[in-house]
Amino acid sequence: MARIVKKFGGTSVGDVERIKNVAKIIEADVALGHQVAVVVSARSGVTNELIARAQSINENPNEREMDMLLAVGEQETIALTAMALHALGVPAVSMTGAMAGIKTDPFHTRARIVSMNCDKIESRLAEGSVVIVAGFQGANDDGQVTTLGRGGSDLSAIALASGLKADVCQIYTDVDGVYTADPRIVPLARKIPEISYEEMLELASLGTKVMQARSVEFSNKFNVVFEVRSSFDTSKPGTIVKQEVSSMEDVVVRGVALDRNQAKIMITNIPDEPGTAARIFGSLGEANAIVDMIVQNIGRHGVANMTFTVPREDTKRAVAAVESVLNSIGGGEVAVVGDIVKLSVVGVGMRSHSGVASKLFGALAEAKANIQIISTSEIKISVVIDEKGCEDAMRIVHTAFGLDKEEG
Ligand code: ASP
Ligand code: MG
Repeated sequence: MARIVKKFGGTSVGDVERIKNVAKIIEADVALGHQVAVVVSARSGVTNELIARAQSINENPNEREMDMLLAVGEQETIALTAMALHALGVPAVSMTGAMAGIKTDPFHTRARIVSMNCDKIESRLAEGSVVIVAGFQGANDDGQVTTLGRGGSDLSAIALASGLKADVCQIYTDVDGVYTADPRIVPLARKIPEISYEEMLELASLGTKVMQARSVEFSNKFNVVFEVRSSFDTSKPGTIVKQEVSSMEDVVVRGVALDRNQAKIMITNIPDEPGTAARIFGSLGEANAIVDMIVQNIGRHGVANMTFTVPREDTKRAVAAVESVLNSIGGGEVAVVGDIVKLSVVGVGMRSHSGVASKLFGALAEAKANIQIISTSEIKISVVIDEKGCEDAMRIVHTAFGLDKEEG
């Protein structure tokens, strides 16, 4: 007998038929004698609808009330999933995050899990019941309902797998695993059988929307091995995410990611003197603009230019923050330039291999993609290029690193 945690995302519980399908997947494990705890998301679209409804009533809704509202989406699906299991004759009980013992800090709409008390779940599992837990929610010390940030059901599942010391943790979604690149852009992309937390985290932060980045950080910290797999086609194995991956060093680049949500901001003619960057980036920090890549050219005639990227939704705030500094300095101009994307190659094998940058730049040259900004970390190289032609560039880079699957 194994203890299994299964998480089903929004599309996997998207309607009544999908929920019945989920119940069948769970039933199969119960029939094999396994103990099963399940985490479900809200039906896809529900959380967005609730947010829109709140904003149509009050542009700036109170965060406590927001959590009260958003927690409803998951409460619908836990009850319906339990009912679907009852219809199959499988004993099941639903629990809110609070009932399941998920304790969080007090920060509404973005709470962090601080502890798990699995006693209630344990006793229900011991009785032979499937336990269905509402994802994305918990309760603070004061018993108030909190939510864990968008995509937070993944985090609930990983925390539960850790708290219950599960043998297996399966994250069911609408794709059948993690790919070497988005298959909609790169038709020759391959499913990755095993990937390390670090690589998965980079890919998740780079907009490969398979899992919430925070949940991957958490699984790394608590060493929770999990599998990403499809609830639509259960016959296929998914991608296993864990610390050490076999053949870890042989694969130099594990995947290629494209982030279309970056904007490039350029500041020209600012005084080339100590303190300027500190003031500009201080102001950007206060404005809560998340700066990603930065370049500054060599100053000439006492002035310098600086370019950086931010997520597109932060553009307005970032420009206003820079303008306020330029006004007080009394010089310089700021502009948002061009439609750009960030292309990244990721792989822990980079630590022990050289020549990754030159191979990447060679492929980009072949794709006639002009590199505007470069940044590197131990396991990642990112470049900013024009949005135009970026998909071709992506395919060429994918081929250059030997990631293409055999055609046929
Ligand atoms: N329902 C929440 C969201 O849409 C949590 C989740 O689906 O993971 O963000
Ligand atoms: Mg989700």
